[in-house]
Amino acid sequence: MRTPKIWNIAICVLIIVAAAMPAAAAGKRDLGREVLPPNDGWASEGAGTTGGAAAAPEQVYVVTNRQELIAALNNGVYPPPSTTPSNTPKIIYVKGTIDANVDDNNQPLICQDYYRDGYTLEAFLAAYDPAVWGRVPPSGPLEAARITSRNAQQARVRIRVGDNTTIVGLGKDATIRGAWLDLRGTSSVPRTNIIIRNITFEDTYDCFPAWSPTDGALGAWNAEYDAISLRYTDHVWIDHCTFRDRETADEKMPHYFGVLYQVHDGHLDITNASDLVTVSWNRFLDHDKVMLIGSSDSATGDRGKLRVTIHHNLFENVGQRVPRVRFGRVHVYNNYYKIINSPVYGYSWGVGKESAIYAENNYFKTDQKTGPDQFIAVYGGTAIHESGTRVNGTPGGGFTDLVAAYNATHDPDLLYDVGWTPTLHTEIHDTQRVIPLVESDAGPCQW
Ligand code: CA
Ligand code: CA
Repeated sequence: MRTPKIWNIAICVLIIVAAAMPAAAAGKRDLGREVLPPNDGWASEGAGTTGGAAAAPEQVYVVTNRQELIAALNNGVYPPPSTTPSNTPKIIYVKGTIDANVDDNNQPLICQDYYRDGYTLEAFLAAYDPAVWGRVPPSGPLEAARITSRNAQQARVRIRVGDNTTIVGLGKDATIRGAWLDLRGTSSVPRTNIIIRNITFEDTYDCFPAWSPTDGALGAWNAEYDAISLRYTDHVWIDHCTFRDRETADEKMPHYFGVLYQVHDGHLDITNASDLVTVSWNRFLDHDKVMLIGSSDSATGDRGKLRVTIHHNLFENVGQRVPRVRFGRVHVYNNYYKIINSPVYGYSWGVGKESAIYAENNYFKTDQKTGPDQFIAVYGGTAIHESGTRVNGTPGGGFTDLVAAYNATHDPDLLYDVGWTPTLHTEIHDTQRVIPLVESDAGPCQW
């Protein structure tokens, strides 16, 4: 019988001991064969989440580049015979850095390499400048060329993941750059049973963001591609990963037409009737949109689904959607929200239509620019459960009631009762322990 306390704390710490011994003697853990522990969040519901743990020997892969990764997801075949990836149980170990923006000889591709049909960024900016084109959506051959060019990039970066799959990083430096992991079933045949652990996802970017001149007062550049997206997918465990931008970080990007040229979408978006997901011990860094759970108020097929558990994650220098929820029952506990000198901070918990966030024992560390009434934003929802929150080590050790803080400066007031109480969870730690636990153990480890 597993003791959750040991599971939660000992993961990285054990390895300090193990590193001094030969791997075999230390009983080095094989992440590929591990399954989601019992009761560890919504993904443990029913038969739980086992990914590819039962893979036969011929379905165990070590991959070092894009082509090998895609082959491993498709019974060893590249290029894949269809857009439907293999559902055979498989374990994929990622070694080193895999860049998705490469050709079939593994040579790097830059945005210009995807230009098609006369598209160039310079031509696009000249043609659709609101001062020239007006504030209406782009159309015509150059906009069509943007879409053709976008599709050329998408054909490289979109990596489809099938059922019964485990993808884990070897060592703590396994990295997937520029990719969109697309977990997508259909309303009648969902994707299911996928584990992704111990990987850094970096710089997923769209070379061809769309110009939306009426999105907001100034217009906006809207990009595609999340690092990981789930649509019609259930029983997924995302654990000990890091999500971040470095070379394409927003602060390095130019402004066009007076607004940021935004080349990123979400880190981890869970939409289209996806369900039963556990997101644990990850680091989400330096990014605007983090986690969208439910993509539309009109997606009523999401009712009863979008059940997600989010625990022991670090959210640092991120802007919004941490998470933003529609319809789902989402348990958010023991997360560390670090909001210091953030140029992009908007809000953390987005209370959307029919959402039922149950948040407990989370820690917010902020500078003086961000107050407790800013952590919640309401987008059509009516209630959120919140308890045990600490903000900046409140003097005297007290908790901060974020709903009361929100209600003091907003109307209509939010209610506290979301109509459910989580039962599937690991140990919920005292809020005082969140920072040391998450700082030492979230993100990839040397196991
Ligand atoms: Ca998205
Ligand atoms: Ca009020």
